[in-house]
Amino acid sequence: MSEDGLPPLREVIAAHGLQAKKSLGQNFLLDLNLTRRIARAAGPLDGATVLEIGPGPGGLTRGLLAEGAAKVIAVERDERCLPALAEIAAAYSGRLEVVDGDAMEIDEAALLSGVSGPIRVAANLPYNVGTAILVKWLRAETWPPFWSSLTLMFQREVAERIVAKPDSENYGRLSVLTQWRAEAKILFDVARSAFVPPPKITSSIVRLEPRAEPVAPARLADLERVTAAAFGQRRKMLRQSLKSVTADTEGVLNAAGIDPTRRAETLSIAEFAALARAIAPRNPI
Ligand code: SAM
Repeated sequence: MSEDGLPPLREVIAAHGLQAKKSLGQNFLLDLNLTRRIARAAGPLDGATVLEIGPGPGGLTRGLLAEGAAKVIAVERDERCLPALAEIAAAYSGRLEVVDGDAMEIDEAALLSGVSGPIRVAANLPYNVGTAILVKWLRAETWPPFWSSLTLMFQREVAERIVAKPDSENYGRLSVLTQWRAEAKILFDVARSAFVPPPKITSSIVRLEPRAEPVAPARLADLERVTAAAFGQRRKMLRQSLKSVTADTEGVLNAAGIDPTRRAETLSIAEFAALARAIAPRNPI
């Protein structure tokens, strides 16, 4: 029996036949000390509702509840996990709601309507789903968004792209989109050996908090258009790489106050926003 009165995760997995499925990107965390550490990194949890995506057998879910989350709403698409999650819900009466669904399809506004207090998101998701859902949350039409913080597990290499600064190899579209609207930092790494089965590479916990206002004004669609073009040909000068988005590259770059011979990875986020503003009148949406 663990501290929370529930069986150890290894037994839960055996009892419910939850062999990890590769197709669902399943790598489970079994050490409740580690999941409590991740839960603390997602805090402060007092009075907070946590949206957890991909609880699986419930290691992180149990960490979040043990560390004092007022409520956890957990979205899982693998129906095999639901009976194990129901046992956690019974042990933490009224504090865990399990939603049988796909994180990419959920309507967070409907799911979280009526919640008072901060909403924090915590997730250990497969790499491709994690990045796609981060982008979905960063593209929210209204800002600040529904979340007060995101605490997410990524492959180390993706975490480095999220927090990368200009003039570095990892700086790219994901860095610009993320840091334009949020502050992001890598908190700590999680070794491959912490997972069952172990993934191929080290993972990292990244925490993001939304900025009240983006770094500099721009329309999201314009920002995404210029970063896609600029980083799509990252070794070329901007006067060349921006040709796919405007016929007047020199005019756009001059209007943004950017030397046309510079390359994408040298631009700050504020400079990308200036480029997005300069391109807007030339490409009315
Ligand atoms: N949170 C658990 C842990 O840390 O041990 C499980 C982590 S495992 C890497 C990822 C979990 O996300 C799996 O349970 C998987 O079924 C679930 N998952 C994958 N894609 C999903 C999606 N689109 N929506 C909801 N859950 C998903």
